[in-house]
Amino acid sequence: MPLYRDEGVVLRTAKLGEADRIVWLFTRRHGKVRAVAKGVRRARSRFGARLEPFMRADVLINTGRSLDVVSQAETIAAYADRIVADYASYTAASAIVETADRIVAAEREPAADQYRLLIAALAALSRGMHRGEAVGDSYVLRALALAGWSPRLASCVVCGRAGDRALPGAYFSVPAGGLMCAVDHTPESRLLQPGVLDQLRALVDGDWEVLDAGELDPQTRHIVEEWGAYYLERPIRSLRLLD
Ligand SMILES: [Zn+2]
Repeated sequence: MPLYRDEGVVLRTAKLGEADRIVWLFTRRHGKVRAVAKGVRRARSRFGARLEPFMRADVLINTGRSLDVVSQAETIAAYADRIVADYASYTAASAIVETADRIVAAEREPAADQYRLLIAALAALSRGMHRGEAVGDSYVLRALALAGWSPRLASCVVCGRAGDRALPGAYFSVPAGGLMCAVDHTPESRLLQPGVLDQLRALVDGDWEVLDAGELDPQTRHIVEEWGAYYLERPIRSLRLLD
């Protein structure tokens, strides 16, 4: 049986048989992998809590004919400890791993840039550096941007006129991919509330000075939720729980 070693974050788990679990890990070098953790649900499992969601671990995996098996796991960062103790952080982390799981659909396809973004977001949550919802929403927009779905926030998607002055009363259309001016806006687009465009730009850029200054506008949050649902072709359930 070939063995391989990698580090990864646990995205989700599912029960298997009496005492085992299937663990979906997003790894640095192998992309998303699925492996069985044997005996992990027993009280005295050798894995302890190392293979719970949001944990980052160094793993040794045996490649099996049908299912791979985790043979060793050592904690690199116990992000989960702090995250599960705070509701906003927990909800944001759930949206983050759900998004990562969806964006990297195929198994065994390396996505190192997505991995770096994922661990940065979970680390920020575990340190309580910023509001949980801002970390989560920023991650969703940035992960989708890395995957090629970047919202156009500098100019109208129809006429290309740039700058805030050229866009008095800017609109935003999720299906059209970004801003629309008052002349070109389509019926499904929505008029942006004051401050929302700045927040969307700050979420995409990771501009924490802006994001830490106040709570996210409900419209900002709805646009992020819609953007995720539209481009992932399914709602991000963990974001929906917030309503
Ligand atoms: Zn226009």
